[in-house]
Amino acid sequence: MSLIRVNNVKKVYNGGEGEVVALGGITFDVQEGEFIALMGPSGSGKSTLLTILGAMNPPTSGQVIIDDIDVYNLPNEKRADFRSEYLGFVFQQFQLIPYLTAIENVMLPLAITGKSNREQVTMAERVLEKVGLGSKKNRLPNQLSGGEQERVAIARAIVNEPPILFADEPTGALDTKTGEEIMELFKLLNRDGQTIIMVTHNPEFLSHVKRAIFIRDGVLDETKHPGKKMA
Ligand code: ADP
Ligand code: ADP
Repeated sequence: MSLIRVNNVKKVYNGGEGEVVALGGITFDVQEGEFIALMGPSGSGKSTLLTILGAMNPPTSGQVIIDDIDVYNLPNEKRADFRSEYLGFVFQQFQLIPYLTAIENVMLPLAITGKSNREQVTMAERVLEKVGLGSKKNRLPNQLSGGEQERVAIARAIVNEPPILFADEPTGALDTKTGEEIMELFKLLNRDGQTIIMVTHNPEFLSHVKRAIFIRDGVLDETKHPGKKMA
């Protein structure tokens, strides 16, 4: 069974200037343990697809099935629970809370789990160690470099051990060397079993991922066949 099944997903936005077909019918599967780069020109529908996969943006038609659950068949409240249990997100702007320390930021998703404070601290410390920030856990975001803030955002996204990690241009705001280091971290997480789907503009990152999915004008670009195993 596939971890994710994307079945003929279409998305039409109704804007001021009429309808925009952002996705024209997208179908693919994701297996557990994959590391996928979602690539395509600006405006091709990558963000739309990522938010639809991320249970945040209902498609106009088609289904997203994750772990046998038809995500958009769930009532809104159940879908929110599903999202916090199954999905982690890292954004280009790290979206850390500026007045909370690194570890407090990482603990945020644990607040609703009913775990004891001691347990939450232990989980957050473990994941901060994993991303290489154990010694800086008590710093505020503005006392950390861009790459370190990104590591905090990644730690926060995975502290709940979600089966799927989504990243939207996670290296977009970083210099080349820092971006490479962050890619190495994603690779490490993937080697430990984390399924990752990442939107990126950067063709250099193709060497790091296991599969690339190319979109053009809202449909899969079948002219690009990078092969299944890339790394
Ligand atoms: P990127 O190209 O980096 O994905 P975009 O500029 O396309 O970023 O989109 C940034 C955000 O703005 C997204 O959340 C997207 O849904 C939204 N957006 C993009 N185009 C429009 C539009 N025409 N009208 C309203 N919102 C839009
Ligand atoms: P990408 O991430 O590849 O840049 P997007 O998914 O942001 O692409 O956008 C795909 C198309 O959908 C673009 O034409 C964009 O302007 C449009 N779009 C995206 N979000 C919105 C929105 N919220 N409202 C209207 N149009 C949107």
